[in-house]
Amino acid sequence: MSHPISTKRHSLAHLMAQAVKSLYPEAKMAIGPDIEHGFYYDFDFGGVSINDESLKDIEKKMKNLIKQNQKFEAYKLPVKEAVAYLESKNEDYKVEMANDLAAKGETEIGFYRNVAQNGTETFVDMCRGPHVDKTADLNENAFKLEKLAGAYWKGDSKRPMLTRIYALAFDTKEELDAHVKMMEEAKKRDHRLLGASMELFAIVDEVGSGLPIYLPKGAKLRQTLEKYMTQEAEGAGYKYVYTPHIAKSDLFARSGHLAHYADGMFAPIEMVNLKGEGAEDGKAPEKFYLKPMNCPMHHQVYLNRPRSYRELPFKLMEYGTVYRYEESGTLSGLIRVRGFTQNDAHVYSMRSQLLEVIGEALERFIRAYGALWIRDYKIRFSLPDFENNAEKYGEETEEWKDSVTAMRAVLDQLGVEYFDAPNEAAFYGPKIDFQVRNVNGKEDTLSTIQVDFSIAPKFGITYVDTDGSDQVPAIVHMALMGSVDRFMAFLIEMNAGRFPFWVAPEQVRILTVTDAAIPYAREVESVLREVVLMKPLRYNELRFTLDDRDESLGKKIRQGETDKIPVMLIVGEKDAEARSVSVRAAGEESKVALSELKAFLEAM
Ligand SMILES: [Zn+2]
Ligand SMILES: [Zn+2]
Repeated sequence: MSHPISTKRHSLAHLMAQAVKSLYPEAKMAIGPDIEHGFYYDFDFGGVSINDESLKDIEKKMKNLIKQNQKFEAYKLPVKEAVAYLESKNEDYKVEMANDLAAKGETEIGFYRNVAQNGTETFVDMCRGPHVDKTADLNENAFKLEKLAGAYWKGDSKRPMLTRIYALAFDTKEELDAHVKMMEEAKKRDHRLLGASMELFAIVDEVGSGLPIYLPKGAKLRQTLEKYMTQEAEGAGYKYVYTPHIAKSDLFARSGHLAHYADGMFAPIEMVNLKGEGAEDGKAPEKFYLKPMNCPMHHQVYLNRPRSYRELPFKLMEYGTVYRYEESGTLSGLIRVRGFTQNDAHVYSMRSQLLEVIGEALERFIRAYGALWIRDYKIRFSLPDFENNAEKYGEETEEWKDSVTAMRAVLDQLGVEYFDAPNEAAFYGPKIDFQVRNVNGKEDTLSTIQVDFSIAPKFGITYVDTDGSDQVPAIVHMALMGSVDRFMAFLIEMNAGRFPFWVAPEQVRILTVTDAAIPYAREVESVLREVVLMKPLRYNELRFTLDDRDESLGKKIRQGETDKIPVMLIVGEKDAEARSVSVRAAGEESKVALSELKAFLEAM
């Protein structure tokens, strides 16, 4: 019979343990679950050092065990017998697990044994199963021991550090090969590695993990993205604001963050004087929090004075940096951070205006994706599920109906491809999300448009309608770069560090063939200084450098390729005589007359 891949993976984990025990009889076994793409097993090798060579031996032994076509047989022992048996085998970790199960009320403990063709028992592991029937059900060519890692017993840093052996396992060799290839490809595109080699950003231990520093080139990339998105949003009537990074607890009590989101926030800053005393009047010191979201700040802009229907839709935007407390183990490059910036926008809108507001934003988002060469994305229409999740969504109100209808009308009118995702809406309203896959195949939301009809009443947000009555507007949260940082990580990985010409931090590099060409290179520079791109970002002055080091041309070209420079201009003495340059772009070379260089670059 054919078994699910998870069963095969876990069965292989038993074979790994069997191989380890035959090669290292003193090793003690801990746990060996199946995981995405494979499995692992944790061992205590008792001071024996294990390296990549040992992994090869273990892998070879496993293949050998598969060939023996051992059977997997399940059986159970009463707790007492199970513990006695495990103690006799010195399997301390298994003893502890059996006792844990007993403490939970289990009376019997499950085991699996492997049995060779001649009927001898070759291996026993305490386990609930399930397993394949025999090792012939496993494919010896579709698994691979991957790497070693350290892991604390039970994840507890006060307990022993064990050796974890990770393995990849699939149904077929083709799937394994494809996965290995994808991981190698992912490594080449990993934004953390490219971020370092291209000098885009750095994560500095002394500053703190999850708090990226943007180096000049990464900052230029970010600034160009921000300028473009500001230009486009201002063109659509958004007004730019600045708001503080911290605020009193009162604000986040009202917004509901302290009640519902406190786990994701940093601990408060208490306002005490330098002697550590509270406020002078003897009251408890005020508490301030780093903002986890920008919305409550933007509401203060709206609330600055009474608003009339004539001002609606009222559109605000800001590059607002927010701070969220993430476990250190989950932090990763620019994707999972503790401080990140959103190009956050909020629109205070009459319900009748939602169609126009969302339609404009959606078109603008799609345009930006095009300008940035992002083609591989899906638009997800995140809907409520009143039937199965009333707890989250409550009842289907008029507001829900109106906003779902408006959003669907926009999606249909624009003729964009999208899919419905029930139960993915926020508790406060439906969303349109732009979904992408990162290089590791994981799905991420890059952009989002969300209707919210629950927050306005909490802040007393109203507008004066035509008849003089106070009405509650719908609020639309939107962020084309839900996190500027994550968006950049995606851009870096998408094309392995190659950016569209207009956004590249260094667009052009002049390379001299010999020192004799330096005077002519200066002339080329003066032409480049005049180049200003107008699309899609207006007044985008050309960013270029000159590599006039006394190095070989080959070396300079290779450096330019490492730095992913879109256009390299090669100038030698012959070019100086001919008043031309050799343009090297996208792996191809062509000659362009100096007199035509400006027009040539402006057309890129
Ligand atoms: Zn098992
Ligand atoms: Zn918001």
